[in-house]
Amino acid sequence: MSAARPASVETGRPLARLSTVRTGGKAEFFARAASEAELGELLAWARARGTRLSVVGSGSNLLIADQGVAGLVLKLEGQLARIERCGQRLICGGAARLPAVAAQAARDGLSGIEFGVNIPGTVGGAVRMNANAYGGELGRVLEWVQIATASGTQRRKPQQLGLAYRSSNLEEGEIVTRVCFSLEQADPAAVKAALAEMRTRRHAAQPQGIKTFGSTFKNPDDPRAQGRSAGLLLAEAGCSGLAVGGARFSPKHANFIENTGAATTADVLALMAEGRSRVLERFGVELEPEVQTLGDVRFPWL
Ligand SMILES: Cc1cc2nc3c(=O)[nH]c(=O)nc-3n(C[C@H](O)[C@H](O)[C@H](O)COP(=O)(O)OP(=O)(O)OC[C@H]3O[C@@H](n4cnc5c(N)ncnc54)[C@H](O)[C@@H]3O)c2cc1C
Repeated sequence: MSAARPASVETGRPLARLSTVRTGGKAEFFARAASEAELGELLAWARARGTRLSVVGSGSNLLIADQGVAGLVLKLEGQLARIERCGQRLICGGAARLPAVAAQAARDGLSGIEFGVNIPGTVGGAVRMNANAYGGELGRVLEWVQIATASGTQRRKPQQLGLAYRSSNLEEGEIVTRVCFSLEQADPAAVKAALAEMRTRRHAAQPQGIKTFGSTFKNPDDPRAQGRSAGLLLAEAGCSGLAVGGARFSPKHANFIENTGAATTADVLALMAEGRSRVLERFGVELEPEVQTLGDVRFPWL
């Protein structure tokens, strides 16, 4: 049985503007879902056609294939971006932005999600990536996560999400539509002050106003790194400011790659390969990508 193609489905939509590094090609099919009902219709259509599904959040840790992405690429919005207070809980749509959740929590005098203030992604992307900062932990404040797939909706508790360093067990086609954060009552002024302090620290440590997807590689868990972060290893291997085409390791934070103008995903991949090979040669440490991929993106060293 084939479902009718929903009117919201576009073909050949360019995706670069949906990623913060602004590279990559077009989606074979693209649609925005503003409610669970709309999402359900899109999932049913994709399922009936046997179409591959993927989802873009804020695109803040995403590298999109230059040759485009096969299948249906979804973006959540509208009702699926809402943040609602329910006592000490915030119930957020998968497309709610983490800085907005942190700000809402501060206004409501709720503590626990302050670390989200500097993470420019959505709640759904944060669950998928197990996003963290400044010792904050997503798993500690998650009560449940609602996931939609082509075969229905389910809720998972944090211990069922396989949360580990920048990863979860969410698979392609499993879409976070709603998340419940359980927070602690606190003084709104104290929570606001914590946000301000985190913003200041971030401003001092990271480049601002550049097109980047944040951390390129994960911090290694390898004794040869001697506790150094991926950024420090890259900097010491001479990668700060190193460029391939329009992609460059930031001179301020070597684990950030920036698009200086007309970078392609191929430029980013070639630069990542060069940085990784320098770190391997100098320290014997094999860096692993943190950045996620959409479409047929192959890391040159794999
Ligand atoms: C300047 C900068 C600073 C950053 N700082 C931090 C930091 O301090 N800590 C940190 O952890 N990260 C940081 N990041 C990385 C990034 O913001 C996080 O990984 C964020 O959680 C990604 O969310 P997103 O919505 O942008 O996801 P995207 O980049 O759009 O997607 C990432 C992955 O999540 C999946 N995904 C997106 N939405 C959903 C959904 N609704 N359901 C299921 N899967 C979904 C995508 O398919 C993809 O696999 C930073 C990035 C930048 C650019």
